[in-house]
Amino acid sequence: MPAFQATQQYFHRAADQLELAESLRVYLITPRRELQVQIPVEMDSGQLRSLIGYRVQHNRSRGPMKGGLRYHPEVDLDEVRSLASLMTWKTAVVNIPYGGAKGGITVDVSKLSERELERITRKFVDEIHDMIGPDSDIPAPDMGTDHRVMAWLMDQYNKYHGFNPGVVTGKPVEHYGIPGREEATGRGVGLLAMKLLGRLGRKVAGTRVAIQGFGNVGTHTAKFLHEAECKIVAISDTSGGYYRAAGIDVPHALRYAIDHNRLLHEYPEADRISNEQLLELDVDILIPAAIGNAINATNAARVRAPIILEAANSPIEPVADKLLDQKGIIILPDILANAGGVTVSYFEWVQNRQYYQWSLDRVRQELDKTLSNAFEHTWNLSRERKVSLRTAAFMLGIGRVARAATLGGIS
Ligand code: NAD
Repeated sequence: MPAFQATQQYFHRAADQLELAESLRVYLITPRRELQVQIPVEMDSGQLRSLIGYRVQHNRSRGPMKGGLRYHPEVDLDEVRSLASLMTWKTAVVNIPYGGAKGGITVDVSKLSERELERITRKFVDEIHDMIGPDSDIPAPDMGTDHRVMAWLMDQYNKYHGFNPGVVTGKPVEHYGIPGREEATGRGVGLLAMKLLGRLGRKVAGTRVAIQGFGNVGTHTAKFLHEAECKIVAISDTSGGYYRAAGIDVPHALRYAIDHNRLLHEYPEADRISNEQLLELDVDILIPAAIGNAINATNAARVRAPIILEAANSPIEPVADKLLDQKGIIILPDILANAGGVTVSYFEWVQNRQYYQWSLDRVRQELDKTLSNAFEHTWNLSRERKVSLRTAAFMLGIGRVARAATLGGIS
């Protein structure tokens, strides 16, 4: 199923609960603006390559639009549109004053040199600089992009518009970034896992966890939960899956990945399993932290974990979501589970506008406060209305955006 259609299914489930009028639904679903651009770049070989880039601005009822930039071979307009709408609901669930947007370039970063990556980023900014800005649309990192890409983006934007550190978040700490942004999404997943376990009356220590993806989100989630005395029994990346029943030594695996081009390739301290097997392990918590649609109609019936935290965006197809829900599996949805990243991005933007450096302690405290509030609201709503955590989170987000849009005057 196309990604945007899948997101709409969740939207309508919540909109039914909220009894939203059809006209308001159409307004809330439809993206405000969509841009597709050609990015012609000279590769290191001297060859010309024409890439395609996108930026979709979904909704700005609650503030400037906010959303990551994804560099991945499967990026297309439909996926970017879906991710942009998820950002609208996500910023509303955690109640930060933003709307939603997303962007991306269809490219495989693993095949690019650093110079090529920089040239592509700068060329992309040449095409979209009029559309973004600290008061209108603020990009951030996502799959395939990192703090370096954000620094180039800011530098290129500033050539057109003057000094504006708040145009992008996820920048290096040494270059107007905020301490704790890099860990924020994974830390948030970890914090929320502990809150959920608490609400379910389960102990944190010894909880067996499997994590798909060992990039930014996966590694920080693993680190946080390992320090909280959970047992990370399985991890994976594009090189495959790794299992150790007694628990993986996460700091060791992290060092290994750093030394091996950010991959766990042939990690010797665990047994090899496939990426498919990882999703079907008998664990307490499953955390997909890599790609979309990892859990789908084909494998959903074999998922055994009683709790799933969606650290990645859209890792569960709607048809699989229904099946898992019927099986009584508790799912903390992406628009809440991975909202730690955009929350600390918001703090970074505030810091840039205040010209005042936040401390790591303050970032962590405020992240905890923001996510705890969002979690409690979502949990209570799901109990009150007898709906899944996903529907409750969507209800919370959609309700806030709908009220802001109506109060602000739509037409
Ligand atoms: P990343 O590029 O840093 O890491 C992705 C990881 O997934 C890598 O380890 C890669 O090897 C692995 N991977 C890719 N395909 C895989 C597969 N088929 N099986 C197993 N592993 C696979 O990306 P990231 O920033 O960690 O983002 C991961 C997910 O989290 C994405 O869905 C992204 O949209 C979402 N997310 C990221 C942030 C953030 O702050 N970075 C915030 C919110 C949501």
